[in-house]
Amino acid sequence: MSSPAIRVQNLHRYFDQLRAVSGVSFEIPSGSVCGFVGANGAGKTTTMRILASLDYPTIGTAEICGHDIVNYPAKVRSLIGWMPDHFGKYDHMTVFEYLDFYCRALGYRGKERLMRIQEVMEFTDLIPLTDRLSDKLSKGMTQRLGLGRALLHDPQVLIMDEPAAGLDPKARVELKHLIRVLADEGKTIFISSHILSELGEMCDSLLFINNGQIVHHGDSESLKHGTGLQEGFIYDVQILGEAQALSDWAVLHPKVEFMEQRKHGGRIRITSQDPSKSAEVLRMMLKDGLQVIEFHREERNLEDAFIDILGQLESNQTPPPLPATV
Ligand code: ATP
Repeated sequence: MSSPAIRVQNLHRYFDQLRAVSGVSFEIPSGSVCGFVGANGAGKTTTMRILASLDYPTIGTAEICGHDIVNYPAKVRSLIGWMPDHFGKYDHMTVFEYLDFYCRALGYRGKERLMRIQEVMEFTDLIPLTDRLSDKLSKGMTQRLGLGRALLHDPQVLIMDEPAAGLDPKARVELKHLIRVLADEGKTIFISSHILSELGEMCDSLLFINNGQIVHHGDSESLKHGTGLQEGFIYDVQILGEAQALSDWAVLHPKVEFMEQRKHGGRIRITSQDPSKSAEVLRMMLKDGLQVIEFHREERNLEDAFIDILGQLESNQTPPPLPATV
């Protein structure tokens, strides 16, 4: 069986007394897109820098496609494209010269070098900016340049630290599209962001980090629908006629919990993880004469899911022992 694209085991990184990353383990399968989510200072950049072989773990291991980042940094660098949150640009260097500089540094020569530059410039739509000074680009253009630079050697794994930060909505949509195209080509993408709603749309899985520890790793669909966090699924139901009819109906049915009345119906929770139960509930509503005009599963936004997970962690923590009475 082939190795996962990224494997991290019991990773710790301390800066003197500060535990920036503390016992992190996860795997990202090849060809998937994983979002890395956490508050400021949670440990995302530290973890990503280690994966990019730019820093060493204090304890633990990290591998890219089965290659240990400490023992085989050159191999790891050939496999990954690293797009940091901020990167340096040089005065008086055009977009083409910038990419050409990095392409030479990567060892490409002659025709092959020009072909690589042409390919990434086409992909990132940088051709119209060929002669523009690289340090005078807008934020969106700069991010495309950073992505182009990261793709010059056609890496299998792309590690992107906050690529959408500071982008306007149009530039974000463009970036999201490029990421999806790369994922469809089979690249593995590990991407951090604060903009959770966007990550949910483009990621196969989400990894939540808090205070240097992984607090959740799962697919975004189950997070949006609350699976694993709370029993059952929430539905928004709209009916013709009196909204009250829905709550009256719900009290008579086990496994259906009426949550909140709305103008044309309300929200109900179907307390079963089995999706066929939802179909059964809808059938029963219709059979009992409710004129259902809308019945859809409610999606929680990922911010709420993240806050829920943190809340659950806090409530599960054992309180400190009470001080002895004097
Ligand atoms: P942000 O979203 O704000 O970029 P982050 O999740 O990427 O945050 P990190 O940059 O990994 O967080 O930082 C984690 C912690 O480690 C922070 O408390 C930070 O101040 C600290 N830290 C990071 N790098 C160093 C360093 N070189 N020396 C000392 N402390 C550091």
